[in-house]
Amino acid sequence: MSKLQILVVEDDAPVRNLITTTLKAHDYRYITAATGEGAVMEAASHNPDILLLDLGLPDIDGVEVIRRIRSWSNVPIIVISARSEDTDKISALDAGADDYLTKPFSVEELLARLRVTQRRLALMQGSNAQKAVYENGQLRIDYASGCAFLAGEELHLTPIEYKLLCLLAQNTGKVLTHSFITQSIWGSSWDNDVASLRVFMATLRKKLESTPDSPQYIQTHIGIGYRMVKVE
Ligand code: CA
Repeated sequence: MSKLQILVVEDDAPVRNLITTTLKAHDYRYITAATGEGAVMEAASHNPDILLLDLGLPDIDGVEVIRRIRSWSNVPIIVISARSEDTDKISALDAGADDYLTKPFSVEELLARLRVTQRRLALMQGSNAQKAVYENGQLRIDYASGCAFLAGEELHLTPIEYKLLCLLAQNTGKVLTHSFITQSIWGSSWDNDVASLRVFMATLRKKLESTPDSPQYIQTHIGIGYRMVKVE
């Protein structure tokens, strides 16, 4: 596999240097931008493989950068935000970001996020999302028959649990926000839909996970949403 090129968008020079030093040490190529306008320009001219995007930029808002880039590109976007910017993080995910890192983050966290994103890229390039059968670890979904199996045994899912499982599966590797999920499943995102979502997620996990308390397939992002993990 040729070296991936990462576009690093960060106005804080020390943080930008930490990121680029890490990328260099781990055999990634990179380009940088320190502003939102710069990010949009670099993304358009270099067509990077992954974007690392700080949300707090001096000119245009990071969420606006995502909206602009998403109008022409599906490049995976990992947003970087401060802990106090949880609502920004959610807006960023809803605008089409794939994942997030919260400042301060460690080099290991950064590399782990990049690995998750690379796996997602590989899935996208293998156009797994378009296939009639989804396979992940012991989980198998046969979209044509509308059935899901775990280790060859059919899972007895309610229609909503099945829809929920398919939505997560089709977005494997990507963090889906509560409001994105409830919009997709119920067409609305009232607070009580989010409460129902928790209930359906709990029953789905009981059927899907051998140890629902430490789930293997569906990760919880507290206050944000859920992600289907690619299981080896
Ligand atoms: Ca910043």
